[in-house]
Amino acid sequence: MPEKLVPIRESPQSEPAHADGAALQRRGIASYVKRLQWPDGQFAVLVDERDAERALAALEDLSPHLSAPVLDRDPPLRCPCCSSSDVLPQPPYPLITLLIGFGAVCTCLYVNQGAVALVVGLMTVAVASIAFAKAARWRCASCHRRYGSGASG
Ligand SMILES: [Zn+2]
Repeated sequence: MPEKLVPIRESPQSEPAHADGAALQRRGIASYVKRLQWPDGQFAVLVDERDAERALAALEDLSPHLSAPVLDRDPPLRCPCCSSSDVLPQPPYPLITLLIGFGAVCTCLYVNQGAVALVVGLMTVAVASIAFAKAARWRCASCHRRYGSGASG
């Protein structure tokens, strides 16, 4: 038995996955096709972790590509502007907004300004919501472009 199976390709239908699997078998690479229950019932081509690179290379040589490479679907984090992979995560501004707002509300309540506390609380929620939707998650270290909003992923 292989030690650990990793998915290298996925297809919505079983035929392309099985064709890729058969192609790998012909090249002497043990492969397995499994229907994934999550997230969308895709058929995955699995190989031993140690064979993954060899299997991907073997499938690269085979044209046309039958099923979609898993690795392409989940690309490494790259700047959409200059393609640099030197990307830095941004501070969690929405969380910071919430914490500051919460502090302000507590302060208002402490000095018995309930109405102000309500207004500040509502404003905090509004600003934090916008920040969640708009705030960039990543900043490129090469061109300093910010990208990746909370809403669009
Ligand atoms: Zn960049």
